[in-house]
Amino acid sequence: MFNIMETQVKTYRIATIPGDGIGKEVVPAGQRVLEAIAARNDAFNFEFENFDWGGDFYREHGAMMPADGLDAIRNKDAILFGSTGDPHIPDHVTLWGLRLKICQGFDQYANVRPTRILPGIDAPLKRCGPKDLDWVIVRENSEGEYSGVGGRAHQGHPIEVATDVSMMTRAGVERILRFAFRLAQSRPRKLLTVITKSNAQRHAMVMWDEIALEVSKEFPDVEWDKELVDAATARMVNRPATLDTIVATNLHADILSDLAAALAGSLGIAPTANLDPERRYPSMFEPIHGSAFDIMGKGLANPVGTFWSVVMMLEHLGETGAARQLMNAIERITADPALHTGDLGGTATTAQVTDAVCAILAAEPAAQFKAA
Ligand code: NAD
Ligand code: MN
Repeated sequence: MFNIMETQVKTYRIATIPGDGIGKEVVPAGQRVLEAIAARNDAFNFEFENFDWGGDFYREHGAMMPADGLDAIRNKDAILFGSTGDPHIPDHVTLWGLRLKICQGFDQYANVRPTRILPGIDAPLKRCGPKDLDWVIVRENSEGEYSGVGGRAHQGHPIEVATDVSMMTRAGVERILRFAFRLAQSRPRKLLTVITKSNAQRHAMVMWDEIALEVSKEFPDVEWDKELVDAATARMVNRPATLDTIVATNLHADILSDLAAALAGSLGIAPTANLDPERRYPSMFEPIHGSAFDIMGKGLANPVGTFWSVVMMLEHLGETGAARQLMNAIERITADPALHTGDLGGTATTAQVTDAVCAILAAEPAAQFKAA
């Protein structure tokens, strides 16, 4: 018999923050894909609230977001973010005024960046098959080189001085390493590479190595090794199959993950999750690319990085079936060169790729009611 108790529809409240540049093109595309998923699924829905923060907001109000902006999104289930960066505003103002304000305000200390070579993508490593590159980079996302500590004095004078202090705390290092070991443990190969620069940076990076050894004892089934960050770049290119889960500092992993994205074919494909693993605050999902000034406003941006970020959002919300459905749809469209955008050597537009993903999702059999 039809049981009303079993038909409770869950509503996820999603904040959308397109930000600047192509963020304004790919975030609406991501929202359309979420709507297409909800339309085929009776178990859950999305309620979107859009926030027009970014460069235009700055020109009008003198700040990238309102002073109490975090309170407006604090109770959301997740945040879908585009990009921050405006050709007429200094990058450190846009970045610190919006994206880092959210990451730090909500203590999203684990930045997770999966990289794979998707079907149909022409990746630059000719000696490497698609199966040889399947990584997840875990980036410390709350402190280190991007702690914001430092200052400038005597600006413009010959004695000018400037510092960016890299701060590493035992608590911060321990929690990101524990997160990385746990993630490595959840993946089939159970393999973790801890990346530092503990030969030249002889204080904080040595502490990383020590804490890695301590935390590793909690994960006896995880195989792990250490690599210096410069050597790691060469290993990513020459021996990609020896890597699986990777953990590194804020700066190192920032750079390594752009390299990873390029090795997998394009910056336009790569996704990110900024997670609060303790779920005290909403987590934020975004493509790793920036505002792409050279193509913004033309409808040419590759939305796949945003779609893959939406997959990560669905996984975080516990909707693993829908996440799988969307990932399958993404892989079907990357396999078709007619649906490649300019960054992949094709001529498809953002709208064409989005339409194609939505059409695949619409053709999926409707999901059954889930028990509440
Ligand atoms: P970018 O990622 O914006 O662009 C680099 C190159 O990749 C450009 O040629 C661009 O056209 C191309 N590209 C990027 N994403 C693409 C996509 N989805 N489809 C097709 N092509 C794509 O990096 P940048 O040029 O160094 O930075 C531009 C601005 O973005 C700067 O203001 C920077 O601070 C900002 N930025 C923001 C974030 C963020 O908000 N997370 C990240 C990186 C850069
Ligand atoms: Mn970056």
